[in-house]
Amino acid sequence: MSRVYNFSAGPSMLPQAVLEKAASEMLDYQGSGQSVMEMSHRSKTYQAIIDEAEALLREVLNIPDNYKVLFLQGGGSTQFAMIPLNLKKNGKADYVITGQWAKKAAAEARKYLDVNVVASSADTTFTYIPKLDPATFSKDADYFYICLNNTIYGTHYSPEQLPDTGDIPLVTDASSCILSEPMDVSKFGLIFAGAQKNMGPAGVTVVIIRDDLIREVPETVPTMLTYKIHADNGSMYNTPPCYSIYMVKLVLEWLKNDIGGVEKMHEINKAKAAKLYEFLDNSKLFKGTVEKDSRSLMNVPFVTGDKDLDAKFVAEAAKAGLVNLKGHRTVGGMRASIYNAMPMEGVDALIDFMKKFEAENA
Ligand SMILES: *Cc1c(COP(=O)(O)O)cnc(C)c1O
Repeated sequence: MSRVYNFSAGPSMLPQAVLEKAASEMLDYQGSGQSVMEMSHRSKTYQAIIDEAEALLREVLNIPDNYKVLFLQGGGSTQFAMIPLNLKKNGKADYVITGQWAKKAAAEARKYLDVNVVASSADTTFTYIPKLDPATFSKDADYFYICLNNTIYGTHYSPEQLPDTGDIPLVTDASSCILSEPMDVSKFGLIFAGAQKNMGPAGVTVVIIRDDLIREVPETVPTMLTYKIHADNGSMYNTPPCYSIYMVKLVLEWLKNDIGGVEKMHEINKAKAAKLYEFLDNSKLFKGTVEKDSRSLMNVPFVTGDKDLDAKFVAEAAKAGLVNLKGHRTVGGMRASIYNAMPMEGVDALIDFMKKFEAENA
């Protein structure tokens, strides 16, 4: 068997120990005589799986008791609509545009309320997290929206860059950084994340929402897009994405027991990213595209400055077992996504390959 190092932005690598555990339980989950894929979501056995997934998430992220955890479908993208549909009161929300995902979220929200764009980094193709001036924040916004880690452009809000929105709920898309670092959940009204970057396979989206934001909504809001429905039914109003939730449970067990929790994971992630950025900062051929104070630990875009050379790099890297390094079409070049499950050995292998490529092509 030969496994590659997968630098994809998502779906991304899963820890090998998790895949092995899932394989060992594939035909017979803990003496049930069935795969988790086959069992009733109303069974005691399955209830224990989803309960454990929630308990582990609460534990590793230190989620306060006045927040609900929901396991939903429709990906991160469905949250772009659910958020305005459920949080709308005055009919206005503030958005910071730091890339495609924030832009898409704002465009979707515009269908339901007035969107005030507080700041944007579009002027440089999103190479930084813009400075925010509280004087530009709407006093009567229903919520304030940011994308915490910008997967495509490789930028990330440091704790100091997070806006202080006072009583206005801060809502964030944490799809590509959840579980990569400690988070003060109490600073947010709502956090959501599609699982397929750092939490598990595609198919489940986690929403962490403060109790007071779970409200009655107008009758025109679809049932399946109502947080209250999912909260009142323990994420089982309908059939949940059973297997994906089970995989999230395995990833959380790995994170807690094998890694030692989110703080430890953050240390490892910082070490992985530091190595790669240091190499980029000193390379004669490659250079990172993001301003230093806005760099993501998860997604690292870089370029050679020559399109043909970029393409050659991506192709040769793939032959060497380093796959999915092509950058997003709006940035070009390369992007290495080094999520939680990417081991240090993968980053080392990438840097070694880049050194060799540089020696041959610079
Ligand atoms: C991947 C991603 C999304 C989209 O998630 P889907 O599950 O494909 O809808 C949204 N936001 C961010 C930051 C992402 O990285």
